[in-house]
Amino acid sequence: MSCTPLEEIPKVYEGLKAAFRSGKTKSVAFRKAQLSQLLYLLDDNVGRFQQALHADLGRPFKEAQLLEINGTLLQLQGAHDNVEAWASPQRAPFSLLWYPMSPITRKEPKGVVLIIGPFNYPVYLILCPLAAAIAAGNTVLLKPSELSMATATLLTELIPQYLDPDVVRVVNGAIPETTKILELPFDHILYTGNGRVGRVVSTAAAQHLTPVTLELGGKCPCVIDPKCDLKTAAKRIMWGKLANGGQICLCPDYVIVPAHFQDAVVEALVAAYKELHPVDPRESGEVTRMVNKRHAERIKKLVDTTRGTIVIGGEVDTETLYAAPTIVRDVGPKDSLMSEELFGPVLPIVPVSDVDEAIAFIGERDHPLCLYIFSNDAAFKTKVIDNTLSGTVAINDTLLQIGAPTPFGGVGASGHGGYQSGKYAFETFTHMRPVTDSPNWLDSALMGARYTPYDESSFRQLNAVLHARLPPRNAASLGYFGCMAAEISCSLNWYRRFWSNRPNGSA
Ligand code: NAD
Repeated sequence: MSCTPLEEIPKVYEGLKAAFRSGKTKSVAFRKAQLSQLLYLLDDNVGRFQQALHADLGRPFKEAQLLEINGTLLQLQGAHDNVEAWASPQRAPFSLLWYPMSPITRKEPKGVVLIIGPFNYPVYLILCPLAAAIAAGNTVLLKPSELSMATATLLTELIPQYLDPDVVRVVNGAIPETTKILELPFDHILYTGNGRVGRVVSTAAAQHLTPVTLELGGKCPCVIDPKCDLKTAAKRIMWGKLANGGQICLCPDYVIVPAHFQDAVVEALVAAYKELHPVDPRESGEVTRMVNKRHAERIKKLVDTTRGTIVIGGEVDTETLYAAPTIVRDVGPKDSLMSEELFGPVLPIVPVSDVDEAIAFIGERDHPLCLYIFSNDAAFKTKVIDNTLSGTVAINDTLLQIGAPTPFGGVGASGHGGYQSGKYAFETFTHMRPVTDSPNWLDSALMGARYTPYDESSFRQLNAVLHARLPPRNAASLGYFGCMAAEISCSLNWYRRFWSNRPNGSA
């Protein structure tokens, strides 16, 4: 991959700005055609993307197909199929007061948007936001991660072949190039990556008052209740932990379990691991490798300095970048494995006394991107959810929640702006622009009363209309039927006030 020359970067930006100003992306038909091209870009080149992902991450081909390429194609298809519906103006809910002004919300593109992607899902986390930004009518500067070089190189080759080069441009490079990019006044920035760089991006964006969506990571806990289906739970946790070699923002990072249940959980996790990997993954090649030497050394140091007990694994080869799937039990809150997001195939188990301690443990740390709960007890699930905060919650499963038709994103240190999935992604890159259109006759009706000098009787009537309808006092103590009766009485009072304040009515 060759880096984009620094002096080229402002020219790329100016080209995207000119293309946006030309108005070509305003056409929904144009956007749909680009989205169709984007689908073919990926579908025509699945084999090449699998190879690139293997070169970047040692990712098994089937895993690349199942967890990255299929998911991306589904998101692209969603954008393609729904772009007209998402882009069409939205009528405001009916209100007698506002109806004459025909209030609508137009979905306007923001302008030139910047998408900075990370190495771990270098196709999904570049092409899905790209589809959303195109659907919303923007022009787009893409900055793929320099750590997933083969994928970045392939995207750089294919994007101009399939998409309008006035509308989407790729800039490659590392810190100097990204720093140069961030000097430019974008209309929105979407950054996916770690919180340290998230702060750099936010600081640069603030210079231009550019809105930012931050998709960050953190440590996602798994809370295990003894009243769960342990075999299934263990299998899903191990699958979620080992997918992409643990390098997914929503991988379960650690497990919290009541101390008396730890032995059973460890036994189930080891059995699940053996079921998922009957052959040593070093031989089978079925666990993705660490992305580079720096990350392999980082995970090795964390494992080597743990004070917990390693149950399986523990080896990290910093030359071949292979980190063995590792389970560590009796991990304390100050352990090396609890010091940062692991982003590797290592699963610490933290014993606690009970669910209250588990909740306190989570609450003392940054809000996680995902909170996993394994339980068959409704009261347990509710208690954990009600007393914690996280970007998302998944119960009795891992990873799959990212594809659900809900907003997905972090809160606090795990980021802000739930952009992923469908129309939420579209809305991230859209300015919701309200439009009202007042007819002249409004002034001969009630709204004429707004002007000075005030006419006493029409002013009183307008004031009565604009007076909020208050809820009954002490509604909580009235019970259902009492509340209904009080509601009716409040409404009658409101109408009485309205009628009695008509210009010809009695005051
Ligand atoms: P990375 O090292 O590939 O960096 C991400 C991007 O930041 C790259 O494009 C890189 O060029 C750029 N960058 C790096 N240093 C920079 C600097 N000083 N100034 C400006 N830009 C810079 O990936 P990463 O950050 O290690 O990604 C892993 C992290 O991302 C994890 O914390 C993970 O949880 C998180 N993540 C979050 C999501 C999500 O949806 N919330 C998805 C994937 C990954």
